[in-house]
Amino acid sequence: MYYQAILWDVDGTLLDFEKSERHGILSCMEEFGIEGCDDAMLGRYAEVNRACWEALERGEMTKPEVLVGRFHRFFAQEGITCSDVKAFNDSYQRKLGEIFFENEDSVALCKKLHGKICQCVITNGTVEAQREKLKGSGLGQYMDGIFISDEIGVEKPNIGFFRPVLELLKGIEPNRILVVGDSLTSDMRGGNNIGAKCCWYNPKKKKNTTEVHIDYDISKLCDVEKILK
Ligand SMILES: [Mg+2]
Repeated sequence: MYYQAILWDVDGTLLDFEKSERHGILSCMEEFGIEGCDDAMLGRYAEVNRACWEALERGEMTKPEVLVGRFHRFFAQEGITCSDVKAFNDSYQRKLGEIFFENEDSVALCKKLHGKICQCVITNGTVEAQREKLKGSGLGQYMDGIFISDEIGVEKPNIGFFRPVLELLKGIEPNRILVVGDSLTSDMRGGNNIGAKCCWYNPKKKKNTTEVHIDYDISKLCDVEKILK
């Protein structure tokens, strides 16, 4: 096998983040007595959330600002009064660890590759939610390394995030490492930063309008196996 290691993104790649996000928000809305949340509103939340994480990737917001700030922005935009936004986010974080959905057949795929190639997860999520999800989904047991930005203190795509990853993969040439993820700005750019090969998981078949270099563009996770052959 040419590739010796795979670095998997978690949210939106191995796990269906959109689905757990919807369930998590709806559950928090109910808990905090906020009514009238519909699909359109959830879509607007997703936009606010994405904009905040992109600001973090550009270094314009800190992680705590993103986590609570996205709900402040969203509630203000929707004219919703929330008694305690910080508590709302805390509850949401807990729920994201509890409510998760496998994306495609990711668990079976990681199980199949286990022992054949070194597999690690690289994620920008919070420690609490990510550890719970990796354990609960069964993905964690197939990983040779779990790298969470909160523990490292630096986010993807920064090179600092990848230092402990490359330390674990010592002896493997960067171009024999395959980064698989759904985000151009964090996963693929991160892969570019360390000289790894980049596999964009792109189920909606979007166009890459950035300057980020992509080696493979796949719409199904199982296509990773073809790349490895
Ligand atoms: Mg992702």
